[in-house]
Amino acid sequence: MSLVQASNLTKTYRVGDIDVPAIKGIDFAIEASSFVAFVGPSGSGKSTLLNMVGCLDHPSSGTLKVLDTDIATLDRRAAARFRGEHIGFVFQDFNLIPVLTVFENVEYPLRMVQEWPAAKRREQVLRMLDAVGMSDQADKRPDQISGGQKQRVAVARALVSQPKLVLADEPTANLDHDTAYRILELMKKMRDEFGTTFIFSTHDPKIMGEAEVTFTLEDGRLMTNSNGGRHV
Ligand code: ADP
Ligand code: MG
Repeated sequence: MSLVQASNLTKTYRVGDIDVPAIKGIDFAIEASSFVAFVGPSGSGKSTLLNMVGCLDHPSSGTLKVLDTDIATLDRRAAARFRGEHIGFVFQDFNLIPVLTVFENVEYPLRMVQEWPAAKRREQVLRMLDAVGMSDQADKRPDQISGGQKQRVAVARALVSQPKLVLADEPTANLDHDTAYRILELMKKMRDEFGTTFIFSTHDPKIMGEAEVTFTLEDGRLMTNSNGGRHV
């Protein structure tokens, strides 16, 4: 079973009276524990696609299965539950909460669920901070650390509830090239350590080589990829 499977997937936005086709019928499959990039210029449909995989938006037609669940069948509430259980997110602008410390930012998703009592929560947060090399910054606030460090914290936060899938929409767009490269190396290390599947997007051809599987989007369509056509 593939972790994510899309078949003739489309997404068309309705803006006033006008249809804006953003994803125009694509097929792909992503295996568990893989490290995948969707690459393409601005406007090619990367965010639209990741939002659908992350159950933040519904497909217009076709099917999209994530962990064998047809995500079109999920209503808003079920989608939120599904996300909370299975999917972590990393954003371009880090999205850390400024008034919380590094530790509290990583702890935040665990406070949303009952089954994490305080002691277990603390242990898990420290484990994640250690894994991303941020243990010694636990008491700092986001404005006291660098962009690269913020993204390390965001990676720890995305992984803290042990999701099967992490989605990262242009996670390196606000970072210089060396830092971007190191963040992707970190994600890959986390994949190796926890078996988490990572899907990231980028418009930067320089870093797409970091992915093990690359899908190239152009104007809402999938181009033949460089990995021997691993998409269906
Ligand atoms: P990318 O992330 O690759 O830059 P997007 O997925 O954001 O691309 O956009 C793909 C296409 O869909 C673009 O033409 C964009 O203008 C359009 N689009 C994206 N989001 C919306 C929206 N909420 N409403 C209308 N059109 C949108
Ligand atoms: Mg985008």
